[in-house]
Amino acid sequence: MTTTAPVTAAIEHSRYAIEARGVHKSFGTLEVLKGVDLTVRPGEVTAILGPSGSGKSTLLRTLNHLEKVDSGVVRVDGELVGYRLRGRRLHELKPREILRQRSQIGFVFQNFNLFPHLTVLENVVEAPLSAQKRNRAEVEREARELLERVGVGDKAHDYPRRLSGGQQQRVAIARALALRPKVILFDEPTSALDPELVGEVLEVIRQLARDGATLVIVTHEVGFAREVADSVVFMDGGLVVEQGSPAAVFDNPVHERTKTFLSHVL
Ligand code: ADP
Ligand code: MG
Repeated sequence: MTTTAPVTAAIEHSRYAIEARGVHKSFGTLEVLKGVDLTVRPGEVTAILGPSGSGKSTLLRTLNHLEKVDSGVVRVDGELVGYRLRGRRLHELKPREILRQRSQIGFVFQNFNLFPHLTVLENVVEAPLSAQKRNRAEVEREARELLERVGVGDKAHDYPRRLSGGQQQRVAIARALALRPKVILFDEPTSALDPELVGEVLEVIRQLARDGATLVIVTHEVGFAREVADSVVFMDGGLVVEQGSPAAVFDNPVHERTKTFLSHVL
């Protein structure tokens, strides 16, 4: 049982880019998130590590309305994504509001999830046009700039299947950026890539970090997390076990479970 004080405080107000308090989520009888607390400051890069099945993807998905919480509070950029206290539903957003909020949060998936029947450029302009109702000429100009920025400017009129995994993931990052998002969530962005393609995707993420973007990255790349993350979160068994600077978590982990996990991946 989590204390309710930070939960109720977070309902009122948040100074964080992302604030999750006491988040519980079950699938049937399987409790996947058991009272998760997570805070991310604006402009900060947070890396989330933890064993498979520990709830990392589910946590990211609650931030973006892909899963509803059973209880707890989730705020992104000060806006309530959802909250429920002790199972009683207190706050439910309208579908239009959910779409609006979701379109302010970039999400980059392990398997890219590009629309296969759309060209690269069409993939990038889709959400700004349909969800954000922005001007086509402006959106296309910006999309071309973003594709240049991630190094696939010459692929604008190709279909995703013609691209390598690394190129597809860079298109997926351009697509996320096209939303002009407040935060970008990455769920193991390099796990599906051949080893020689990992570096080109990490380089794009590294550049976003340098530019001051607010990023949350679920990753097994410990070296990368140590280099770019301001904050490292270790999850296990549906809980945030430890959160701190890379030096604190990687070099001086407090919890036994963190030490055991790191001894396997380092
Ligand atoms: P991680 O990303 O850390 O590997 P996940 O959040 O994907 O962990 O999953 C945590 C647990 O929740 C796993 O046991 C997984 O099988 C289960 N799970 C995730 N999504 C669903 C779902 N939609 N329905 C049922 N079980 C799920
Ligand atoms: Mg996962």
